[in-house]
Amino acid sequence: MTKKDNRPEEMKLPDRDEHLIDWLNKVLLRTDILDYRYNLKGCGVWKGYGFKLRRNIMKIIRDLLEDTEIPHEEYLFPLLIPEPQFMKEAKHVKGFEEEVYWITHGGTTPLDVKLALRPTSETVMYPMFSLWIRSHQDLPLKTYQIVNCFRWEGKNTRPMLRVREITTFKEAHTVHATAEGAEDQIIEALDIYKRFFNDLGLSYIINTRPKWDTFPGADYTIAFDVLFPGRNRALQIGTVHNLGTTFAKTFDIKYENLEGDMTYGYQTCYGISERVIASVIVQHGDDQGLILPPNIAPIQVVVIPILFKKADEVKIIETCRNIKGFLDKAGIRAKLDESQQSPGAKFYHWEQKGIPLRIEVGPRDLKKNQMVTVRRDNREKQFISLDNIKETGDRIKKILNDLNDDLRKSLASNTREAISRSNDMDEAIELVENDKGVVEIPFCGSEDCASELEKRCDGLKFLGIPVRYMDFYDESENEYGELNGKSLANDELFCIICSKRTDKYWTIGRSY
Ligand SMILES: [Zn+2]
Repeated sequence: MTKKDNRPEEMKLPDRDEHLIDWLNKVLLRTDILDYRYNLKGCGVWKGYGFKLRRNIMKIIRDLLEDTEIPHEEYLFPLLIPEPQFMKEAKHVKGFEEEVYWITHGGTTPLDVKLALRPTSETVMYPMFSLWIRSHQDLPLKTYQIVNCFRWEGKNTRPMLRVREITTFKEAHTVHATAEGAEDQIIEALDIYKRFFNDLGLSYIINTRPKWDTFPGADYTIAFDVLFPGRNRALQIGTVHNLGTTFAKTFDIKYENLEGDMTYGYQTCYGISERVIASVIVQHGDDQGLILPPNIAPIQVVVIPILFKKADEVKIIETCRNIKGFLDKAGIRAKLDESQQSPGAKFYHWEQKGIPLRIEVGPRDLKKNQMVTVRRDNREKQFISLDNIKETGDRIKKILNDLNDDLRKSLASNTREAISRSNDMDEAIELVENDKGVVEIPFCGSEDCASELEKRCDGLKFLGIPVRYMDFYDESENEYGELNGKSLANDELFCIICSKRTDKYWTIGRSY
């Protein structure tokens, strides 16, 4: 299928679908996103280009959180948690006990109270919430922070996907006067994440996680997963938790209601991490490297002069500088590559870095007063006249918009193809074993049934109940077309493991 790859050996990448992790490692390093050669496993360095990409992505989520009817406000809480404070909520502690880093010394002095490095911030924030919330007028409280957090991982770390220092942990925490208020917040959170992932052109599935895979201390957890190409495995990229009053009771988050009674607040929290950035890189990329959606690309257009004859050199460079100038004026993030490299070497370099659009001007173009544009995703070429600069700028913007849309559409259709449905246990297992993607099966919801199926297929996981079964889910927004057309409420379903009657399909699949 793919064209013969003429690029130099050091530019070549492993096949993305076949060797995904190796591909990701090499892409991150070669394109100056992240350098994981730091002398501590699971920790890496964001480099300039990667940091710009990260900043553009984080700007979208910040704007979404702050544009809600009652805006979320950005806070910054401490990294360290005194042991007794961390140990207060038993379910939470149990869930994180194998993942917490502890500080035991200050210099050479053993500490009286051990300090945890935050694995997440419920136990950091909630004692403070308890100080701030006094009356119903203090509610809702809607906060978020974007920080690093630490989780012990064994040797099996993977850049951006399984790390010890999560560098880009966006966690939102809210408190509400009523259970309904918290439910509404869950809907708002789902909406924010949908819009965020849509803006990044990601294609995802949403499931309410099984009870046994719920966030420690939460009433329920709804998770977003992307399916990675090739093996179609799921990667969790966002979670939304309804915490009920569990933490409020533990940390004494109470307010005086209108009747003058002290009442516990209802809480939610929801988070994402750099896995979102990894997903952008993996889902959009190809065997030549990154393909960045124009809305987040640090550089949207690269301008490359094609020089053959000395005579035209000056004019071509001058034209390219003019193009760069009007792109700047049009608000398009552009780079002019005047380096001494050959045009071919420049093409490879900028392609690997995922620049959405390349503009070339050579001697023939100079004569016709035109430039050539080449899209990174499908290599589509256009010849665009330079006679009217205003029109030229508009055409470039249109190409970038089309590219954004096309990336998203092709991903959505790949994801749709990787979701199937089966009422037969052997068939369902075979689909998962052959890496066909996720499968929806009629299932009774019992953990015993789940472990029986998990035993029969290495790596099989219950991802949960597709969120479109939830009452509040707006059908018209469903991404998955046909599947959605099938009747959702169904009395004639039987668990494919124990044959008990059920009315729901559940999603199973392999995950990272
Ligand atoms: Zn069952």
